[in-house]
Formats: sequence, structure tokens, C-alpha cells
Amino acid sequence: MDTDVKRTMDGAVQYPPRTGSSTVADAEASASPASDRPHFPAAVAPVSPVLSFDSFFDSGAPPVRSILDAGQAREVTSGRIAIALALRQMNIKAGDSVLVPSFHCASMIEPVTWSGATPVFYRINDDTSINLDDIASKLDGTSKVLMVTNYFGFPQDLSAIRAFCDRHNLLMLEDCAHCFLGEHKGRPVGSYGDYAIASSMKFFPIYEGGLLVSARHSLDAVTLRSAGKGFEAKAALNALEDSFSFGRLGVVKALLWLPLATKDFLWRSIKKAKPAGAHSMVPGSSEGGFSFDPAWLDKHSSMFSRAMLKLVSRPRMGALRRKNYLKMAAALEGVPGCRPLFSTLPEGVYPWVFPLLTDNPQPAFNTLKSRGVPIIRFGEYLWPGVDATVCANSVDLSKRVMSFSCHQELREDELDWMIDQIKDALRAHPQPL
Ligand SMILES: *Cc1c(COP(=O)(O)O)cnc(C)c1O
Repeated sequence: MDTDVKRTMDGAVQYPPRTGSSTVADAEASASPASDRPHFPAAVAPVSPVLSFDSFFDSGAPPVRSILDAGQAREVTSGRIAIALALRQMNIKAGDSVLVPSFHCASMIEPVTWSGATPVFYRINDDTSINLDDIASKLDGTSKVLMVTNYFGFPQDLSAIRAFCDRHNLLMLEDCAHCFLGEHKGRPVGSYGDYAIASSMKFFPIYEGGLLVSARHSLDAVTLRSAGKGFEAKAALNALEDSFSFGRLGVVKALLWLPLATKDFLWRSIKKAKPAGAHSMVPGSSEGGFSFDPAWLDKHSSMFSRAMLKLVSRPRMGALRRKNYLKMAAALEGVPGCRPLFSTLPEGVYPWVFPLLTDNPQPAFNTLKSRGVPIIRFGEYLWPGVDATVCANSVDLSKRVMSFSCHQELREDELDWMIDQIKDALRAHPQPL
């Protein structure tokens, strides 16, 4: 069993230890060296969706809109690769600047530095809405692109931001990594930006996958090819293994025992044979390593992931994410020392996770991680130099928001167990000492 997988999934947002193959990202870009980061056991319930037999059925859930409805799309291996492709399509280069939010993960910034442009960090408000006044004050002749993140699945005021970009002659890059599903003022997410990106692996039961979408420009020039048979096999088998490891798809597991054992054997031999520093066979985000690797710019997402994007029910995904979110919000109401980051869950919002604002995060976080609760801290490590003088709200959110999985593949018993653990950990440490 490939133990990287579970670490990976939160790794996509949590900065797992770097492997040696880092390319653009150099050691300085890492806000905290891997060795400083604590090690916790793998989560007991899946952090990200794993495949189940139910994944494919709507079961009466109402239709939902998604970034796939926004325009032409290209399926790549990660969200960060999609960001790099968007910047390339916009002809961004050295001497240009890209306005990026101070509340971020490194995978949003690495493609910007790869393009040669300078990232300029703008402020966000305490509710994660972007601060247009601060952005306006930071514009100069080099400003080309405004990157806007729909945090945790809650869309920004996209129509106002679109108008702002038009007024200031900026290109808009809509980051829907947390917001695969949803709409704003009657239009699907992803349709306001010149380009939009998504991280499909945060929403679908897949091992790798990201999307580049444009409602306004042709993507005909973005041509992709397969990353090879080894990659195709690994992408499919790892998604299945991830599902098996959480007790889903039992019958399929029995049927696939032989191919999986063979794959493990082959994989070990390949790893042994591979000289140090040779090209990784999977994108950085999915390998437990953390680096932006431009070798993936022209690679198609695997056939398995692309099939899942077609087959997995988006209505079910949307309905269950809302249901799980609301259940957690209700169960944690009145627990001292915490409150939901967003006070309501508006219609048309399909959350990535349940973000909880806590007064004393660290002890509760350590307790929950060590018990294997699926938890993510988005923006835990900000880019070097981004501190409270740059944006106090970002630093505060980066420390205080604990996000809990609320995806469609959490079972009722897992969710109940999580809620008990969360209440317990928060009651034990409501206030900072
Ligand atoms: C995860 C994430 C990305 C990058 O997506 P990957 O698929 O992990 O490369 C971009 N933006 C945000 C806000 C993210 O959380």
C-alpha cells in the first residue's frame, strides 16, 4: 500500500515534506523546512473523497452548476499546473507583476515565480473577501493579473471584481481550487475570470487532476499529451487503493488483488532502479513531495481521472457536502472557543471543507491530528515575507482556521465520530493559556 497517498491529499494544501526533485521552488521558498513540521498518523477517515459505489448516482439530488459549465476546459494533472498554463496564455513574463492574495498556499505562488513575474501580495478582509482598496493602492504599470480565490467554496463578489479588473485593465484569474461547484449571480463559478482553475482532486475520488477553464478566451493553443502508460496505471490503481484502505469497494478489491500486488512489486523495482533525481512519474502534488514541476505543463490528466470527472455525480457531491457542512455547524454551535468562519451557508455554495475559527488552535489541532481526524489547515505556511504588516487578517486566518473534511464520501458514522472528537478537543482547550 502506497502510504504517500493520504498524506498527499491534505498535502496538496498542507506542504508535505519536500522530495529532492524540486525545480522552480527552491529551499528559500519553503516557509518552514520539512524537518520542522510535525509528523502525525494517517487520517482514520478520508481527508479527500475516495471512490464508492454510490459515487456515481444522483439519488434524487437537484442539479448543480460547476466550473465545467463556465467554458472551454483543459484537464491537467493539478491546479498549480493550470495556474501556470493560465499565466502562459496571458503572456506573463519577467517584469510583470501578478496580484496574489496574502492568504494562500505555496502552490498558488510557485507558478507565478516560475513565469518570471513578481507576486504582489494584497490584503483580504477577516471574512476572506478581497480588499479592493488595498489592491487599487498596489497597482502600477507592471500590474497585469489579479488572482482571486473563492476560499473554502464560498464565491467572492465576482461581478464586482470583474468590473474592477475591467476598470483597471487587469486580467482576472479565478482560483476555484476550493470551488468546483457553485454559482454567483446566475453564472457558474469560473465564468467571471479571463481564466479559471480548479483542483479536481479536492472534489473527486481521484489521485491527480486539475482544470484550466476559460469563458472568454480560446484554449485551442493548449495542447496536451498522455504522461505515459505507467502514469495512467498508477493514477487509476492509487485511486482504487485509497478507496480500499478506507474499506470502500470491497468486491472490487478482491477482484483486483492480483493486479495490485503486481503493481506494488513493479513499483518497488522501478523505485529501486530509478537513479536519484530522475523525473518523477506523477505530479509533485500527488507524490507527497512539494514542488512545482513544469514537466507537467503539457500532460493530460489520466484517463481514469477524466472518466471520473464525467461519471461521478456532481448533484450528489453538492448535496452531501452541504448536508455534512450543516450537520457540523449545528453540532458545534455553542462549543466554547470556536465559531464557523462563515455564519451562513448561502444557496448555491458547495463547500470544500467546514472552516472553523478557533481561539486556541494549536493544542486542539495537535490532539485531532494525532487521533487521525481528517483536518486541513489551508494557508498554514505563508510565503516568506508575508507577515502581519502585509496582512494581519491572513496571518490570523492562517493560524486560527481549522478546516474539517465535509466531502460526499464521508459516512455517517465517520462524521459522528469526527464531531465527537472535535467537541472533545475544543472543550479541553477553549482558551489560550
Ligand atoms: C490546492 C490549491 C491550489 C492548487 O491546486 P493543486 O491541485 O494542489 O495543485 C490552488 N489554489 C488553492 C486555493 C488551493 O487550495
